[in-house]
Amino acid sequence: MSDKYYRDTVLEVDLDAITKNYLAIQRKNHDKTFIAVVKADSYGLGAEVVSNHLAAKGVTFFAVATLDEAIALRMHGIKEKILVLGTIHPEHINKAIQHRIAVTAPNLSWVEAAIDKVDEKYDKKVWIHIKVNTGMNRYGTSDIEEIKTMINKVNHYQRFIYEGIYSHFTSSDIEGKATEEEYNEFKRIVEAVERPSYVHIANSGGALLLDEDFTTAVRSGISLYGYYPSLYTKENTTVKLQPSVRLVSQICAIHHLRKGESVSYGRTYTASDNETVATIPIGYADGLWRQHRGFDVKLKNENVPIIGTICMDALIIKVPDNTKVGESVTIIDNSSDSDQALEKYSEYVDTISYEALCALGRRLVRYYLTEDEKLVYNAIIN
Ligand SMILES: *Cc1c(COP(=O)(O)O)cnc(C)c1O
Repeated sequence: MSDKYYRDTVLEVDLDAITKNYLAIQRKNHDKTFIAVVKADSYGLGAEVVSNHLAAKGVTFFAVATLDEAIALRMHGIKEKILVLGTIHPEHINKAIQHRIAVTAPNLSWVEAAIDKVDEKYDKKVWIHIKVNTGMNRYGTSDIEEIKTMINKVNHYQRFIYEGIYSHFTSSDIEGKATEEEYNEFKRIVEAVERPSYVHIANSGGALLLDEDFTTAVRSGISLYGYYPSLYTKENTTVKLQPSVRLVSQICAIHHLRKGESVSYGRTYTASDNETVATIPIGYADGLWRQHRGFDVKLKNENVPIIGTICMDALIIKVPDNTKVGESVTIIDNSSDSDQALEKYSEYVDTISYEALCALGRRLVRYYLTEDEKLVYNAIIN
């Protein structure tokens, strides 16, 4: 990846904010292992830089969704423990062994198939985390007899290490009884079987809200990047998070419209008076939605609206007459009070912070800021 770029639209990622969030969540869960969830390219922020930064700050355990993501982290120098949260094909177990990656066992037939597929040419062992289903009905099993047999098979196969047992909350970010019920169900199941070193169920919502001493690890994704899973979580946790992302661009063209003239595809906006409009070089290919039309962006501490149809690579805003080419525009701000906070940007198109971050396009240069250095990553120019 190159550190060169030739575009005025960048995604700034504040690595110091991410460190603070990690430490704040770890402080609340001081007796537990912190598992940094860096799947989906660290929720769009860039897994290579974010993971290496966190490893340098003391994070010892990472989680991703797929085996490819885990291998990519290994290739980018991550030496710490990595767990794949999704289900890998049993025949790919050798890749996990080769790259020293921990994998999830969702049921007994997976364990049997994986044992059957292990290639004898590797003499290394692989760590297994058993997935318990407590209500997601996505991966895992809730059958205690099945789990006992899985553990027994893992323990009796010399190449497997029974390292973890875990589940996943369905509703830890909303009010209600579901989380307590799922936690109790998990506890009931784990207490009935052999206990491994890692027992984990909490995602961000759980890690921010729960107080319990049964589990030994928490898995945090969205909160690590400075965003609460929901308003309910924000209002009910003692943990203060700091948003890490700013999406900024610069005005690249100005047009003066006379009353009755329009802008962009389909002429969907028409000036009702003489007006000044400005073009900024960011569009839906960068992760905005076409539905962001009407959303206010920030130009010199002033809110100005996106007008007309949002294009693939550009959009148009209505600006004061004295606006100049080169002036900076903030689309997503790194303050939760801002009108351009990620929450507001997401709500405007009826989605959640998670989806808005994951949608940020690969061609946005990632500009990483820390106290002592600035790092630029351009995934487009290799
Ligand atoms: C994505 C994911 C997480 C992280 O969830 P956040 O709400 O972002 O903290 C944790 N566990 C599993 C199994 C996941 O898939």
